[in-house]
Amino acid sequence: MPELPEVEVSRLGISPHLIGQHIEQIIVRHKQLRWLVPDDVHLAEGHKVNHVRRRAKYLFIDTDVGSIILHLGMSGKLRIVNSETPVIKHDHVDIVLTNGVCLRFNDARRFGACLWQSVNDPEIGMIAALGPEPLTSDFDGQRLYDLSRTKSVPVKNFIMDNKVVVGVGNIYANESLFIAGIDPRKAAKKVSKKSYLELGDIIKQVLAKAIEQGGTTLKDFTQADGNPGYFAQHLRVYGRKGQACEVCDSEIQSVTLGQRNTFFCEQCQK
Ligand SMILES: [Zn+2]
Repeated sequence: MPELPEVEVSRLGISPHLIGQHIEQIIVRHKQLRWLVPDDVHLAEGHKVNHVRRRAKYLFIDTDVGSIILHLGMSGKLRIVNSETPVIKHDHVDIVLTNGVCLRFNDARRFGACLWQSVNDPEIGMIAALGPEPLTSDFDGQRLYDLSRTKSVPVKNFIMDNKVVVGVGNIYANESLFIAGIDPRKAAKKVSKKSYLELGDIIKQVLAKAIEQGGTTLKDFTQADGNPGYFAQHLRVYGRKGQACEVCDSEIQSVTLGQRNTFFCEQCQK
């Protein structure tokens, strides 16, 4: 599943092809994605793309009249193609520009979304409810500490809560807690202030590094075979059940927390 760094790298990849160009046509081949694609997305036709923004894992293609909102869901992919390029299975939405370039959204499992936010309407509910962005000054370890004082849920579930902070998905929650030396099963309210202050910085570093690595491995967003937003990176604990801990050589353990695979070292994480 694309996590925040993959979505940010997708944004960086598609932005130069879209910004400043006019939208000629939006082609919706399959309306039933996670939510029905609203007819209002066609309001963007004829308008210039001013920005491509990201909020949590939502991408906003901004025009003067409103924004097309894309979410990659479980399996969504964005490609930049020529509008003449034949469609393949699961190519559900095209945003065709007047210069013949096309942003093509492919989503095999259809958990992704294409929505519309008019400039005159209040922010749509699920976006208005989101917590702060992890890479801004609105988020830090102090916030984690303050919000956790009454929370008995495991600290891993706590940092993955979108109302606490957005964009800490399963891989990055595992990695951050390993680096911070915090047991993912520990109750959120039992983690010390010192540990949270460190964890806040580590989350920022882990996400920033993943974006940087993704940006480096991302050669060309226009390659048609593309898995453009996904990239291999070195993971220290995620997916390493039964392997030796990089730090102490103990065996990496795995449990399920909040229905998500959780990996940790019992020696290094307390
Ligand atoms: Zn260890």
